[in-house]
Amino acid sequence: MKIPFNDLKRQFCEEEKDLRQAFERVLERGWYLSGPEAVGFEKEFAEWSGSGFAVSVANGTDAIILALTALGLEPGDEVIVPSHTAPPCYHAILASGLIPAFVEIDQDYYTLDPASVEEAITENTKAVLAVHLYGQMCDMDRLVQVCKENGLYLIEDCAQAHGASYKGKPAGTMGEMGAYSFYPTKNLGALGDAGMVCGMSSRFGEELARLKQYGESERYVSTVPGVNSRMDELQAAFLRERLKRLDSHVQERNRLAALYSELLLDTPVTVPKVRPETRHAFHLYVIRCPKAADLGRFLKEHGVGSAVHYPVPGHMQPMFKLGEADCAGVSKLDFSYRLRNEILSLPFFPGLGDEEVRKVVSLIKDFYTD
Ligand SMILES: *Cc1c(COP(=O)(O)O)cnc(C)c1O
Repeated sequence: MKIPFNDLKRQFCEEEKDLRQAFERVLERGWYLSGPEAVGFEKEFAEWSGSGFAVSVANGTDAIILALTALGLEPGDEVIVPSHTAPPCYHAILASGLIPAFVEIDQDYYTLDPASVEEAITENTKAVLAVHLYGQMCDMDRLVQVCKENGLYLIEDCAQAHGASYKGKPAGTMGEMGAYSFYPTKNLGALGDAGMVCGMSSRFGEELARLKQYGESERYVSTVPGVNSRMDELQAAFLRERLKRLDSHVQERNRLAALYSELLLDTPVTVPKVRPETRHAFHLYVIRCPKAADLGRFLKEHGVGSAVHYPVPGHMQPMFKLGEADCAGVSKLDFSYRLRNEILSLPFFPGLGDEEVRKVVSLIKDFYTD
C-alpha cells in the first residue's frame, strides 16, 4: 500500500460537480478579473472569518506584503517573525523593504515565543508577524499585550490556520490584519494561486483595495504607488464552492490528527500538543521524534510520503550569510536550530483513510522496535 504525503485529487473527486459548475459560470459570463466572483468571495470569506473586511489578492505572500505596506512603515523598519516558519514569511518582509528580526518559538506549540519577541524589540521594531504555524494559534493574549505596550502593529499570518480560533476569536481578527493563502494544499485551497487580507478597520481595507490595483483610488487615477495583485474570477469561483465544505474539512483534519495522536501513544514520538482554550485547525501533522531523518527514509522505503516543515530556519538561510539580504533579531535561536532535525510531517489531508493512518503508525512502531 502506497500512502502519499498529500493527494489533492481525492478532494477533487468529492467536489468535481461543484467545481465544474463554477468553471462553467465564469466561462459563460466572460468576466475574468475583478468581477462578481471575487466580490462575492470577499463578502463570504469576511463573514466566515469574522472579519470586518476581506480583500482578495493574487497569493498569500502578496497578502503579507500588502498588509505590511498598508501599515505605512519606513524602509529599514524591523518586523519580528519566528525563525521556524515557511520562507514566504521573511521573503514578504524583505519584499516590503523591511528587515526580518528572527525570534524563537516556544517548545510546546512551535509558535512565536512572547518572551523572545520582547527580547528582540529595538527602536526600529514596528510590527510583529504572528504565524499560526501548522494551524496552531499563537499565544495571542500575550502577543497582543506585548504589541500594545511597545506600540507595535500585529499582523497574523493565517496561511495555515483557516478555521483556527483563540478563546473563541477567529484567526486574523486580533491584530491589525490577517493574511491568508489559498495555495492548493492549504486548509482552503484554490486550483492555483490566491490569497486574502482580512481585518477590522475599513481604513486598511480601503488602502489594500488601492494597493492591489496600481494604487488607484478610481480607474486610471493612482494616488499611491501600487502593484497588480488580483485574484482570478475562476479561482474565486472555485474557492466559493470549496468554502462551503471548509468547516467539515477542518473537522476531518482534526479528527485525523486525533487518531494519529491516539495511535502514537506509547511510542518514542512526541505528538503535537493543542494550546488550551484554542481551536487548532490542523494543516500539517508534525511529530517530533528521535532519528527523524532516518524515520523519513524508512517510511519512503515502505511507500509512505513524509516531509520536513521546515529544514532551514530563517536566520540560517544562505541569503543572509551571503549578505544578499539583512536580518536582525535574537541571534542564538537554539531551539529552532535543533527542532529542524527532530521533526517530520506525516501524510495528512482530508480524504486520507483511517486504515492508512493505522498503516503509517504501524510502520513507525516497526522502525522503533527494529
Ligand atoms: C503558504 C504560506 C504562505 C504563502 O502563501 P503563498 O500563497 O504560497 O504565497 C505564507 N505564510 C505561511 C505560513 C504559509 O504556509
